[in-house]
Amino acid sequence: MDRSVLTRTVRGLWDDDILPSLSDLVAVPAISPAFDPAWVEHGHLAAAIEHVRAWLATRDLPGVAIEVVQLPERTPLLLVDVPGTTGDDTVLLYGHLDKQPPVANWSEGLGPWTPVVRDGRLYGRGSADDCYSGYAAIAAIEAVRAAGGEHARCVVLLETGEESGSPDLPAYLEHLRPRLGDVSLVVCLDSGGNDYERMWLTTSLRGLAQANMTVRVLESGLHSGMASGIVPSSFRIARQLLDRLEDSATGEVLIREMHVDVPENRITEAREAIASAPGVQVGSVPWAPGVRPVTDDEVELALNAGWRPTLSITGADGLPAPEDAGNVLRPFTALVLSFRLPPTADSKAAVETVRKLLTTDVPYGAVVELSRVENADGWNAPDLAPWLRDALDQVGEEVFGAPWRTVSLGGSIPFMGLLHEAYPDAQFLVTGAVGPDSNCHVPDEWLHLAHAARITEGVAVVLDAHTRR
Ligand SMILES: [Zn+2]
Repeated sequence: MDRSVLTRTVRGLWDDDILPSLSDLVAVPAISPAFDPAWVEHGHLAAAIEHVRAWLATRDLPGVAIEVVQLPERTPLLLVDVPGTTGDDTVLLYGHLDKQPPVANWSEGLGPWTPVVRDGRLYGRGSADDCYSGYAAIAAIEAVRAAGGEHARCVVLLETGEESGSPDLPAYLEHLRPRLGDVSLVVCLDSGGNDYERMWLTTSLRGLAQANMTVRVLESGLHSGMASGIVPSSFRIARQLLDRLEDSATGEVLIREMHVDVPENRITEAREAIASAPGVQVGSVPWAPGVRPVTDDEVELALNAGWRPTLSITGADGLPAPEDAGNVLRPFTALVLSFRLPPTADSKAAVETVRKLLTTDVPYGAVVELSRVENADGWNAPDLAPWLRDALDQVGEEVFGAPWRTVSLGGSIPFMGLLHEAYPDAQFLVTGAVGPDSNCHVPDEWLHLAHAARITEGVAVVLDAHTRR
């Protein structure tokens, strides 16, 4: 490939073709179905798909087939099938067009549905997570061709349910499987890393276990002056039950099924990542004054976030807002328990243990109900093939001028586990333009435009190398 043509093509595409269209896409409030039950009536997911489809129709990709796929009662999906210049296997490039909810408190002049370009950043909901992904994938393919490189058949798959846990993807994978052919490389552009200086490869993702726990002691509330001392507090019982799950002094999760031995290679990678970008993990956290991380050892922090189980209480019910609270012994306390699990933990076994611990020998015979019990396994990448390692070294030298690094991501991308199971021999390039302060899921989300262009170029180099493996 002509390297200078590649760079020039990618930059030109980003400036002239992608940025205007991506900005308009940011303005579409395509909130993920879990946060917008009326998504069918609102039509924003369909509008996002149509917006990208219309842009794709203007691209010069010989033989391309663009299709909106929608199974009954499922969210739509955009499928772009670009014939390869060589070979007969398939590269699957994944991204999503649904977004997190807007949330409040965006900074002056910014807003979730108001695209703003400022200081090389595109602000707005979905800019970084993950509306740029389809554009970047197509630009990488176009650039390979312009620079005289080769690529295998590329299928770009953009879904609209990722932020809801990708509930529809298993059905779509089954539906599309005969058409996808022999997938030898998966490129996922829904991730990122610890800085904007290099390509970051995500080598594992944590799994999930979740449940709503309701502890009930009364049919209705009672005057706390009369009932306390006679009726046990549902909050105290909830605390006791939580103590079965987690050491409240250290945060250590006490469930054996949720722990795994961290693989040696992932420990080495964590050390390298921290050495390359020290301080960023802690530095990008909006700490309240005086608050410290759980340990000063940055490698341990990285392993905690990537490979160890954690419990977060993400919601509560049965508790009035402070200004509405009367002197009442409340009938129940409900808490949303959200566990992150190590990439290789058995999430099904984990939730079964949680169920048993919370419903056996409950103090005072309180009624414990579990609802919305969900679990999803994490993902641990297969070992990198030598060709991919070499290609990433080339990306480091020629595109970024800094070596690639890996990250064990604390979040989940459900599709990776599914694909790994479906294509056990495939290689995975899970990467993206998101950095530690890109504000995904919170106010002031932004995309680092120059970094997104470099990631695009990196993907192009990998696509070309993949044909010569
Ligand atoms: Zn995402």
